[in-house]
Amino acid sequence: MNRATAVFGGTFDPVHYGHLRAAAEVSEKLDVDDFRLLPAGQPPHRDLTGAEAYHRLAMLELALAPYPDLTVDEREVRREGPSYMVETLHSIRRESADAPVILCLGQDAANQLAGWHRWRELFELAHLVVMKRPRSRPRYPDAVARELAPRRARSTAALMNEPAGRVRNLEVTQLAISSTDIRNRLAAGRDPRFLLPATVLAYIRKHGLYDARGG
Ligand code: ATP
Ligand code: MG
Repeated sequence: MNRATAVFGGTFDPVHYGHLRAAAEVSEKLDVDDFRLLPAGQPPHRDLTGAEAYHRLAMLELALAPYPDLTVDEREVRREGPSYMVETLHSIRRESADAPVILCLGQDAANQLAGWHRWRELFELAHLVVMKRPRSRPRYPDAVARELAPRRARSTAALMNEPAGRVRNLEVTQLAISSTDIRNRLAAGRDPRFLLPATVLAYIRKHGLYDARGG
């Protein structure tokens, strides 16, 4: 156990077992006391098939209810306007003093890093942990690759010696589950059971999210 804070950012539209298993394994490997799933408030460039932030938050809370060691950080959902990770990390950093802060992302999200607002600043605020994901290989543009190379940490434990600025890849059990696939199944009237918690699926049906038909 250590005093680091780890956050796993995403849209969670809806949360599924790929997210949840990755969160469980990464929190175990990092051995952090404080592991948070952080739903994005108003992600830029989302299509109209998605659910409102308050629904995504409610589904995450349902999924994590039995697991008090995994919590939800609501700050992006509560904030007005677009959520930029760099601002979120500034806010977490202010609360963490000089303790390590770790941002956890899947490989597909990490590959998009160069498109993030003020992405270079992220390394002054947090470490980056990149989780393997089926069908995603590391594909970094040169500017990102150059930034990452000298930051590679030799061990996961090494992340605990500094507040920010290191990068580490972590293996997690590979589950080829995506929210897109779940939304598509629902819209087509197909049952996505066993890809996500039953409580979350019940919520989706109750609120008619993703044009879910019948049930
Ligand atoms: P969508 O299809 O809507 O993009 P998604 O399944 O990719 O949804 P996100 O909310 O976009 O889920 O992902 C949040 C974070 O979780 C991202 O960093 C993503 O890489 C990671 N992630 C999502 N699914 C998996 C998975 N099956 N295994 C490992 N990481 C995952
Ligand atoms: Mg995604």
